[in-house]
Amino acid sequence: MKIIISSIPEDGLNLQFHKDGQWFQELLPEKERNEFSLQRVDVSCTVKRMRETLFINGRLETAVASTCSRCLDATGIPVESTFKYSLVPAKERFSEEKELSSEDLESGFYREDVMDLDGLIFEQIMLQIPIKVICKATCKGLCPHCGINLNASSCDCQAESIDERLAVLKQFAVKAKK
Ligand SMILES: [Zn+2]
Ligand SMILES: [Zn+2]
Repeated sequence: MKIIISSIPEDGLNLQFHKDGQWFQELLPEKERNEFSLQRVDVSCTVKRMRETLFINGRLETAVASTCSRCLDATGIPVESTFKYSLVPAKERFSEEKELSSEDLESGFYREDVMDLDGLIFEQIMLQIPIKVICKATCKGLCPHCGINLNASSCDCQAESIDERLAVLKQFAVKAKK
């Protein structure tokens, strides 16, 4: 969504809209297109202008579909994010404006009379995706020997490779924590 800055009314804009999976795919770098997808993202935000600075305050909600990096199962990442941005015209000196913005504001630029809200929304979604996606913290992954999904079934490879002394040590560590 592109916003014509000079058309923002005095008391700001209240926006509510959604974007679909196609939109998301087109913004993703090519090598990540198979890795992430989503059906829909809901956004609500306000855009205010004070002189040349834009203040954007918003919230978005979506679920990103991906693959668990341990067990390779399909998994969903729920994304709920609130965000704040302050944008200044690209031609201005950044350092002067930086003093004015509080720490929790992301700073950025806009060019000419147009602000591209899509870029900010996309950035916010990507920030919420962990570097290593896992289906759950306790995911056991695939057996490195036979490739079986250890969440769903078990195999004998693991048991053979664990040294008994190590197992005793592990138990000891758990007890010591309590
Ligand atoms: Zn997993
Ligand atoms: Zn195995």
